[in-house]
Amino acid sequence: MGQIVGIDLGTTNSVVGVIEAGRPIVIANSEGSRTTPSIVGFTKDKEIVIGDQARRQLVLNPKNTFYNLKRFIGSDWDELDDTSISVPYNVKANESGSVRVLSTNTEREYAPEELVSSLIRKLINDAETYLGETVDSAVITVPAYFNESQRQATKDSAILAGIKVDRILNEPTAAALAYGFEKSSSNNVLVFDLGGGTFDVSLLKISNGVFDVKATCGDTQLGGNNFDSKIVDWLAEKFLNKHNIDLRRDRQALQRLTEAAEKAKCELSGLQKTKISLPFITTSKEGPLHIEETLDRKIFESLSQELLDRLLEPVQIALDDSGWNAEDIDEVVLVGGSTRIPMVQQLVKTLVPNDPCQSVNPDEVVAIGAAIQSGIISGDLQDLLLNDVTPLSLGLETIGGLMKVLIPRNTPIPVRQSDVFSTSEANQSSVVVQVRQGERPLASENKSLGKFRLSGIPPAPRGIPQVQVAFDIDANGLLEVSATDRTTGRKQAVTISGGSNLNEQEINSIIEEAKAKANEDRKKRSVIDRKNSALTLIAQAERRLRDASLEFGPYGAERQQRAVELAIQDVEEYIDDDDPQELEISVSALQEALFGLNRKFAAEKKTDNNPLQGIKNTFGSLKDELFSDDYWDDDDPWDNQMNRNYRNSRYGNSRDDNDPWDNDYFL
Ligand code: AMP
Repeated sequence: MGQIVGIDLGTTNSVVGVIEAGRPIVIANSEGSRTTPSIVGFTKDKEIVIGDQARRQLVLNPKNTFYNLKRFIGSDWDELDDTSISVPYNVKANESGSVRVLSTNTEREYAPEELVSSLIRKLINDAETYLGETVDSAVITVPAYFNESQRQATKDSAILAGIKVDRILNEPTAAALAYGFEKSSSNNVLVFDLGGGTFDVSLLKISNGVFDVKATCGDTQLGGNNFDSKIVDWLAEKFLNKHNIDLRRDRQALQRLTEAAEKAKCELSGLQKTKISLPFITTSKEGPLHIEETLDRKIFESLSQELLDRLLEPVQIALDDSGWNAEDIDEVVLVGGSTRIPMVQQLVKTLVPNDPCQSVNPDEVVAIGAAIQSGIISGDLQDLLLNDVTPLSLGLETIGGLMKVLIPRNTPIPVRQSDVFSTSEANQSSVVVQVRQGERPLASENKSLGKFRLSGIPPAPRGIPQVQVAFDIDANGLLEVSATDRTTGRKQAVTISGGSNLNEQEINSIIEEAKAKANEDRKKRSVIDRKNSALTLIAQAERRLRDASLEFGPYGAERQQRAVELAIQDVEEYIDDDDPQELEISVSALQEALFGLNRKFAAEKKTDNNPLQGIKNTFGSLKDELFSDDYWDDDDPWDNQMNRNYRNSRYGNSRDDNDPWDNDYFL
């Protein structure tokens, strides 16, 4: 069995954690960073780029560089707010109302899950490289306030990446796990999690390794991006007034504005004012136009007032649901990069008077918690127990369009609830179970998670048949719904999978395509790797040749130098060839030749104490070296072969075609 890792799949950045020697750690990615930008893009050559590489092409290739994907995952088009769809790349609704992202380079549209799966694959690949073993399953975190569709879509992304999901874990719960890990005291904790794209608040009781989530609430369309948008609008409006040009209509300009806004926002967490300078943002008839503005913290705070107000309600609802007062909270844990904004920190203090806990790194705490959960599952960590809750009420649509709640929000999970329903008309032979999630009394105002029909109900007057509908939520918060006709025993059950809007067939075909692509990518990568390591070896060999001419003089190690030179020529000849075998042979020949030269260096070191050695080196004792058999170490096969080869090639050829060394070096 492979390893299990914990993945914090963030809107802005993603982080991977694992348990090593009984402790959770964060794994650095292949670029050496502990966080990977959650960005996926396609280059002009249709190559996929992920993380830092994708981030680098954000400004120059905005139509093919996709960020904030987490806001789209498992959401219908009409659930998205304006900020979410105001991105420099093309997003649209497909015919069934699901979100699709378009790449002009690959001329294809993608379900957000598909792109997120590429990100997950990279995270897993990097983790495997670090761990030196395969990773076949993961604990993946999601905002606590994610609904069923969003959870299911996240799970589908992992499946598309070829990974089994051991647990979908709520982000604030993960943060609490990290905070409470190895703490023996009993505490009531409020986790305030404001990331790049989502906001979550959770209340937990932590006592001797038992984590009881009491209540959770949030907003999946509110995060640091909204604060960036406020600054973008401020800059764009000023520019519009001055030049009558709306920069938000120009993709590249919008991308540059967004980057500058985020940078200014982060700077304002430490400074009172900051300069925003965007030269050549666009051109008009008069020539190039620039942005040169100063934003001070007060203006930023006044622009963001509406967002601050939106943070208040979820905290209040969570407190009400838990039955706690603000005074009952012992500790506040701040999670997510946006909790560094001073006005956000102040707001938290006005809600709960205690100073927030500083012992956790807001960028890594969720991944650490996910790693702890993976340790609980693998058995590496014991004596920890996690009891989570369902974030939103679940129910079904009854006649008249009303919502009948079966599982109220903040019910501890796993849970099973059932109720009996009947027909609304005489002789009705089937009923439709329309599953919904949300807090509104009118069913149509809540999220539809899917529907199914139970047919074959025997004819009977209205209200007589008894149909038992049961809702089962597992520890991942994933829901299964069943309906049973009590008279006939006929049963119909579905696992809610409407979230990703990818049906099973689509998922399978994407997996197949990904597998084929993975093979192709692996081949391409190995060609590039081979070429790169050949180039590195050539550079190394050339350096060594320079060292040799300094150390030994023109003749001191001519035999070995020449062997290296010729081997370099061979490698250069094959480096762009399609034939990997020839390149491999020439590379190992170069390695052998370098080895010979290095031995010469080592031998020289041994005689370094001789004061005449330097002179001998400089002028070289060609005769000694080439013709004195004393000099040759008969026990050293390399020396023998190389020397013989060299002698043969240089002085009267007696080249032996059956001698592999001969062939390798002196063809
Ligand atoms: P996360 O999803 O936790 O990685 O948080 C990312 C969000 O935090 C982004 O919107 C960042 O712009 C924001 N962020 C990171 N550092 C700071 C900072 N020093 N001040 C304000 N926002 C920040």
